[in-house]
Amino acid sequence: MPKLSLRFVPLLSLALPAFAAPAQQPIRITADLTEAPRKLYHAEIDLPVHAGENSFTTPEWIPGNHRPTGPAEDITGVVFSVDGKPLQWRRDDVDLYEFHVEVPKGVSTIHAHLDCIVLARASDKLAVLEWEKLLLYPSHTPVKEIPVQPSVTVPKGWGIGTALTPVQPFDANTKPGGTVQYQPTTVEQLQDSPVIAGEYFHEFALAPEIKPAHFIDVVSDRPDDSNLRPEILRSLNNLVREADKAYASHHYNHYNFLLTLSDVAGGEGLEHGQSSDNGTEELGFANGKHLLGNAELLSHEFTHSWNGKYRRPDKLYQTDFSKPEVGELLWVYEGMTQYMGNVLAARDGMWTPQQYRDMLALSASQLDYKSGRIWRSTDDTAIAASILRGGSPVWSNWKRGQDYYQEGELLWLDADTLIRQLTNDQKSLTDFFHIFLGKGGNTGPLIVTYNREELIRDLNEVVKYDWADFFHKRVDLINPHADLDGITRGGYKLVYQDRPSASEITLLTGGGRRGGGPDLWYSLGMRIAKDGTITDVRWGGPADKAKLAPGQRLIAVEGRALPADGDDQILLFHEVLTAAKSSTQPMHLIVGSESYVSLVDLDYHDGERYPVLVRDGSGKDYMDEIITPLTRAVTAMPVLSPDK
Ligand SMILES: [Zn+2]
Repeated sequence: MPKLSLRFVPLLSLALPAFAAPAQQPIRITADLTEAPRKLYHAEIDLPVHAGENSFTTPEWIPGNHRPTGPAEDITGVVFSVDGKPLQWRRDDVDLYEFHVEVPKGVSTIHAHLDCIVLARASDKLAVLEWEKLLLYPSHTPVKEIPVQPSVTVPKGWGIGTALTPVQPFDANTKPGGTVQYQPTTVEQLQDSPVIAGEYFHEFALAPEIKPAHFIDVVSDRPDDSNLRPEILRSLNNLVREADKAYASHHYNHYNFLLTLSDVAGGEGLEHGQSSDNGTEELGFANGKHLLGNAELLSHEFTHSWNGKYRRPDKLYQTDFSKPEVGELLWVYEGMTQYMGNVLAARDGMWTPQQYRDMLALSASQLDYKSGRIWRSTDDTAIAASILRGGSPVWSNWKRGQDYYQEGELLWLDADTLIRQLTNDQKSLTDFFHIFLGKGGNTGPLIVTYNREELIRDLNEVVKYDWADFFHKRVDLINPHADLDGITRGGYKLVYQDRPSASEITLLTGGGRRGGGPDLWYSLGMRIAKDGTITDVRWGGPADKAKLAPGQRLIAVEGRALPADGDDQILLFHEVLTAAKSSTQPMHLIVGSESYVSLVDLDYHDGERYPVLVRDGSGKDYMDEIITPLTRAVTAMPVLSPDK
């Protein structure tokens, strides 16, 4: 039932029969990104209307975000008009994303202007347009039924990357600038088709023998950064070939990876049916150090074109963006994508097999030591997804976060190795993908929903097993420990040793997105930021027993001031933790809060502890098999050494 503002209801209900807004006429929208460097996007929108009250909405629940992140609070400068004369409008009293406009008789189209304040995803040299920032469409109408004709205006000399099809085809690398008009589509598809634009723009065609066509469009703040290195392009070609083999279907007319490389425009990874919006720091793909933390980004978002966009959990799909999404099956949507995104990063050569295992060890150990798992199931992290993203790190291990990503990775590794074992290596999760992700054969962009029953049915088609019980035990029930069965069955075991893995050293010494500094989580049971602030304390760990608290600042350890430099901090803790092994005395710390300084004794003698996977000689090496390329394209790994 549409929510109508009181002032319009009586008049409307007398004057008009109850019919929905018109509209086989398309909405026409021109997005103007020329002021992106000033943090403002503009839109000029022509909206088909009928006489009387019309209601228009901006998107609230954004697919892929699984949260109400539509930026209604940043939309400003709203003017509705007819022939240049302003029309009065009123925001809905309850649904703050909705505008009500009274339209005079005889008027079939009104104009809307609006601006959006864009604090992220734009810089002096590039801009990312997510259409929910500018879209207006008739309320309470299925968005797949609303036609829209989009255009985009960008600064002169900027290139444009998008999965939208231009009315006048052009070579993207010519950087058209100005206004580009795109073929009519639906509001559902437009919201799913972001645009990147930038001065330093490159488009590369990928794996040309694979149909339909694949491209990567790149913009960057640094002039040379968007011109991806041949080693990266080789891995991306491999990625397209490997996904083609693994999923054996596609659900797009063409696919555009959209990549922004910027310290200003922020990180991003958002899936779409025919494209993905990927953002990393500057130089994110320029050297091995950055690449370690970014290697799985593109393969993860690409996988979502099948798992998430085409196959969508039934309650996660809504016919318009004003209805809440239900997260219960996110351990499939995100979890299986996390698994395959990482597997593909190894198969395409962005990670070496060793790096794949090192990264898996880091996420498996984090889950195994996540204390909140004694009160909260993985299922609950999925259901509560919309309130678990981001937030403070304070006691976050006790709260749990969006663990359905990594829990899902372990769960699907478990399932993959189990299928291989049950079928004597004749089948694998790839067979399941061919059924589950390939239903209906090749299609254009399309959403086909599923539920848990279908998932179980399709797995049983691969191999008979009690899959209902398999999921119930791992997802719905409280499990004090992480599911390490896939690792074990895969021929490895998770152990803790006194030296970090080579990959963790790269991360700890400041590589990629994950920051630098010592890893004290499995030893002292706390995380510290560069400035010594304790960001989290592991519930039940040594720091917890010593009553240390998140937010306190570590000033000194064993009489030695905490150095400012992350590498020096690593060295200090190496020395202190090693010395404590042969001592029975507690460690002495000085910590500060806002106003006070205190002395803390911390009783810990087990030395440094870092997670790694080691080969377990007793089992078959399914894990090595899983990350072996399915195509013969990958011949040499790795792509870039860390110190380049
Ligand atoms: Zn994802």
